[in-house]
This record gives sequence, C-alpha cells and structure tokens, in this order.
Amino acid sequence: MPAVILVTNDDGVHAAGLHALATALDGLGDVYVVAPDREQSAVGHALTLHRPLRVTQVGERRFSVNGTPSDCVNLAVLGFLPERPVLVASGINHGSNLGDDVTYSGTVSAAMEGTLLGVPSMAVSQASAGEAGFESAGEVARLVASRLLVEGLPAKTLLNVNARVPGKDRAGNGSARAAVLLDRRGTAGVERRRGLGYLRGESRPGQRDAAAPRPDALRRPRPHGGLGIRPQLAAQEAAAVIGGRREPALVATGEQRHGRERERMVAEQLIKRGIVDPAVLEAMRSVPRHLFVDEALRDRAYGDHPLPIGESQTISQPFMVARMTEILKLTGREKVLEIGTGSGYQAAVLSRVAARVCTIERIPRLAARARLTLEAMGASNVWVRAADGTMGWADEAPFDRILVAAGGPSVPPPLVEQLGEGGRLVMPVGPEDAQRLRIVDKVNGQPKVTEDSTCVFVKLIGKYAWEG
Ligand code: SAH
Repeated sequence: MPAVILVTNDDGVHAAGLHALATALDGLGDVYVVAPDREQSAVGHALTLHRPLRVTQVGERRFSVNGTPSDCVNLAVLGFLPERPVLVASGINHGSNLGDDVTYSGTVSAAMEGTLLGVPSMAVSQASAGEAGFESAGEVARLVASRLLVEGLPAKTLLNVNARVPGKDRAGNGSARAAVLLDRRGTAGVERRRGLGYLRGESRPGQRDAAAPRPDALRRPRPHGGLGIRPQLAAQEAAAVIGGRREPALVATGEQRHGRERERMVAEQLIKRGIVDPAVLEAMRSVPRHLFVDEALRDRAYGDHPLPIGESQTISQPFMVARMTEILKLTGREKVLEIGTGSGYQAAVLSRVAARVCTIERIPRLAARARLTLEAMGASNVWVRAADGTMGWADEAPFDRILVAAGGPSVPPPLVEQLGEGGRLVMPVGPEDAQRLRIVDKVNGQPKVTEDSTCVFVKLIGKYAWEG
C-alpha cells in the first residue's frame, strides 16, 4: 500500500495553489487533501478548541474542514487519514513566506503542526505573483518532497520552501530559490547541506527575543509606595479607539478576558519570579499589552515570551519589562528616558510609575505606530522621538532614570552624561547573543556599575553601539 501524503494550505480547499501542490505530489504516495473550507491566511498557529470541527468530503481523497490549517493537520494526522502520513505539505502559497511572515502564515503553521506531531513537513510558497507560477513551484515541491521522503529531516525541523518561478526572476535567474529550514522556534542561521539551504539552530538578530534565559538570579529591591498615576483611558476605551469598528459589547467581553490574562501573567510570570514592587505590579496589571501587538497575535500577548512587532523587532517578554522597570526604583516623580520604543509597551508601563517618559526609536515606522497606540491609551506623559537613541536626548536632559531596551557592547557615553545626579540607568550589555543587565548609578558625579541577570535583547544600533 502506498504511503499517505497529506496536503493542506491556508487559502482554502478550492485554491489553485492547493490543487497544484496535490497534483505535483501525486504518485509519490497517496495524496489526501484536508484543507480549510475557506481562506485562513495569517491565522498563524491557531487551533480551534471550543467549537466542533466538521469534515466534508468535496472530492476523491479531498476534504474540507471548518477550521484553521493547524486544525486540518491535527485532525488528519491524529486519526482521520487511513494511516499516519509520511509527509505533510502545505501550500502553494501566493507569494513568499519570509521574515516576520513566517510567524503569521497559516501555510507555515500547518507545516509546523506536522513537525510538532513528528511528521516530516514542508511549507511551499511561490515567490512570484500570479497563478501561472504554481506549476513550476509544484515541480520544485515534488523535487524537494521526493528527496525528503528518502533522506528525512532532522528532528524539530521543517522546510519552508520559497520557489521562484523560472524566467520571472528579476536577476534573470531561472532556478528555484534555496529551500529554507526552520526549527520549531523559528530561529535561524543559514547553512548548506546536501544541496538544500538549511536554517536552524543559531539566532538571527531580527529574531532575538528580549527574553531572560535565566530569570531566577534576582535581587530583591526595596518596595516603595508612591505612584505616578495620571488620568488615562481604561483599556476598554483604548481598544475602542484603536479597534474603531468593534461593537462595545464585544470589546468589553474581550477586555474582561484580557484582564484575566493580565492577572495570571502578573501572578505566574512576575510575582513567582520575585517581582515585588507594588507600583510595577499594578502597572503590569493595568497596561493593555495586547494593544501593542498586531491583531493576529493578540491571543498570545500575555504569554511568557517576546513577540514580533514588525521590522524584525520584538516587544519584550513581560518579565523583562517588569524587571527592568523595578530595577529603576521609581517613585512616581521621575523623568525617564527610554531607548528603543519598539511597540511603546515598555514606555506605557513606565508612564504609570514615573512623571514623564521620553522615548526614542530608531525606526521611524515603529515610532509613529507607538505614538498612535500610546495616544489611544491616553498616555499623555510620554514623548516619542524617531532618532538614534545612543546620542540621548540632550534637550531634555538630565534624566532621573534611563532604560535601554536593546543590547549593546557598552553603555553609550552620552547616556551616562545625561543621567542626573543620584540617577540610575539599566541596559543589557554584552555580545549580540547574550547580555547581562548592567546598572549604572550616578553617585557624586561618578558612574557606579553593578550587574544583574542575563538576558537576550535585539541589537542596539547606532553611533555608540552596533553598526546597522
Ligand atoms: N521597548 C520595546 C521593545 C524594544 S525592542 C517594547 O516595549 O516594545 C528594541 C527596540 O530598540 C527596537 O524597536 C529597535 O528598533 C530599537 N533600537 C535599536 N537601536 C536603537 C537606537 N540606537 N536608538 C533607538 N532605538 C533603537
């Protein structure tokens, strides 16, 4: 009996790309199509939990499911198919799946689900637009699949194949692009092996995660009382401003859920790991973190990890935000400088425990978006500027506190200069792949340096940091 191959996608069971992939793989095994009944692009790795899934036969060995691409793979591999598949192939996606797209893509997530279930899996995308390219991308998929069926894949690894259509390449190069391998966490580095391009193991700057690998080595700072709380919109109102079209009743329900998620985040990720400052805990409890991430990622906003925010940058892990804020020992009266606005989330947290926050972001698009989100939240004591933060913000200096939310080789001298007497700075310092939080206190005009826990942040790029 021939081996079973599962084909799925995120564009829906009737998509031309799916048909092309199933046709291309036909003959390598018994091809079964189990795909969403409608378009499910950018659903990421969502699974349906609280609704029954319905499978409908729409042709010979062809089934539609009223769920996500990951649902389809789950269902098919865990019992629906006559036997466990030897390969999960997902696609063919219109347009390439590279960079940040990989985290949102339903196509890649389906392959990820296959990988998690222990089946060799690949996502296939055609890098040029237009349906004419599906056939050529299918040929590439068949080639890769036949090799993969013989040679297998390393554990926890999936293939993300981006095929370029011959003749349509701008460089006039007719060959397919290198296949790309990702491990389960999506971390990457390029390595050539057996003729395929492999990505695995090491991390790439854009995929660093501003996370604390060892959040246990904590010192306990003194708790303090004073709060710098200014009138701000409730999370619910901010969601209504940002979400615009949503019904108030739905917003309220969503906000209640997010409120519960925040409570859990504070209890399990912060208090259990030693965050004790009541003002910091209250800020983390009240700032609507989900509004600082893309809508597609909102369900994961309160998870114990960083998340992508576009431009190869990340919103830091909740614990790191809380830890760095706590280290600053804020009383509510301080003027704080943040370097690396990113989504604006850290600035929003600071705005609740300090008097004023000046924050600098190197990437103008991120700065503009953060400004909008912070405005919608009513954080009227935050000023966002697009510039190289390693130069500081001379016009606003001195600062009582400085928080650098990106990792650099050393503390930029202008920041130490702009730190006021009795002030405190915190910054991740060290090589690109592992830093340690460095604390600088200014005592009698002199910097006094101490070190805290280890961490991994995205790169601080600028005149007094890494080169861009
Ligand atoms: N605090 C952010 C996350 C920080 S990610 C949040 O809460 O979402 C680090 C950010 O630092 C990225 O957005 C990156 O673009 C920015 N960055 C890197 N080098 C910088 C520099 N020299 N000046 C200002 N921002 C910088």
